[in-house]
Amino acid sequence: MKKIAILGITGSIGISTIEVVRQHPQDFEIVLASSNNNYSKLFELAKEFKIPELVITNSALKQKITDIPRNSSLTFGENELQRKIGSVECDTILNAISGSAGLRSSITTISKGIDLALANKESLIMAGHKIMKMVKNSKTNLLPVDSEHSAILQAIGSSKPDEIRSIIITASGGPFRDLPLNEFKNITLEDALKHPTWNMGAKITIDSATMMNKGLEIIEAHWLFDKSYEDIKAVIHPQSILHSFVEFIDGSIVAQLSFPTMKIPILYALSHPKHIKSTIQKTNILDLPNLTFSELSIERYPLYDTAINAGTEGGILPTVLNASNEAAIDLFLDRKIHFTDISRIVEKQISKFHNFQNPSIEEIIKINKDVYNQTKQNYKNLI
Ligand code: NDP
Ligand code: MG
Repeated sequence: MKKIAILGITGSIGISTIEVVRQHPQDFEIVLASSNNNYSKLFELAKEFKIPELVITNSALKQKITDIPRNSSLTFGENELQRKIGSVECDTILNAISGSAGLRSSITTISKGIDLALANKESLIMAGHKIMKMVKNSKTNLLPVDSEHSAILQAIGSSKPDEIRSIIITASGGPFRDLPLNEFKNITLEDALKHPTWNMGAKITIDSATMMNKGLEIIEAHWLFDKSYEDIKAVIHPQSILHSFVEFIDGSIVAQLSFPTMKIPILYALSHPKHIKSTIQKTNILDLPNLTFSELSIERYPLYDTAINAGTEGGILPTVLNASNEAAIDLFLDRKIHFTDISRIVEKQISKFHNFQNPSIEEIIKINKDVYNQTKQNYKNLI
């Protein structure tokens, strides 16, 4: 029985993790869970799974909440979450907090030597250089939850980075894969929130529509698998069945396939290094649709290119990329800007920033906040 913590339990990945735990009651026990605002869902899950430790990161809710589940202890605030991660007895922490808010929890988990099942890719985007160094010097196993990176991990097996020629990440292409470019100006919020193959939280759904998500995943793969940016590419694969390829130096290519569900990569991140018996999803090869692959158009998805350039430049630039993107997405979700303004804003914020290498975690957290706030306040001058 593994003891696990689920941070961001009320989100899309959090709920998929719950479904995995429900099907594997003998394998996993939840000892700590967090949400930001959604306390009613958190409490419902706490009762069902008898979760002893709960944290609500939004401290403003402290005054409002009175009816705490019996047998659970509840605390509030981001600092309290870090304290609980530091003190809980736990085998794996699954970080499914969305956006830059997830960074501190990843850092605390690694500094405690606890295994980290990482859905929060933004941690690696902002602080990959620090995180990978910390992981090397700690007992932590860093296990990707992102389906593409789970596929890559499985395809690599015990091979070393110098046996790998390239990594090819697949991308569904999102809802605007076939939309004529001259119609992008008419895209509505509702259009952008409709992903063709995955049902996810709002931020990553918009990132999938702009293809920023794939750019972020290239940066994520760079850090996780120690490959240079020239050796990692993305291709469009509309069916989302084949989750990524690894090409080896002898010419062999290995891929991982399943019908699209996050439950398989979540289970693997929790059961690693073993695959364990599960009825979560059976993929019958004869039921598969035709699998197609095509080139990803940078004209259609400018943020894909912007993200890779920021990743290649390194330093603080990926943090600026991520913060301005988060702010632009929030503005779009608030209907203050147009879909095509997202890339305009991110590109402008990046182009005027003076980059520097090897930022500290404190510098990353500060600049992330500054760029986010500045983008939200000044957006009219950026579009
Ligand atoms: P959701 O928006 O569905 O859920 C986010 C979770 O984080 C919720 O539990 C939310 O709490 C909590 N949260 C939000 N803001 C904060 C904050 N400031 N501090 C602490 N907790 C916060 O996101 P997803 O589940 O879709 O995504 C989570 C992460 O996983 C992202 O990094 C995403 O890129 C990654 N990912 C997601 C995939 C998917 O299929 N959804 C696939 C691959 C990666 P509350 O509900 O209370 O607001
Ligand atoms: Mg992914």
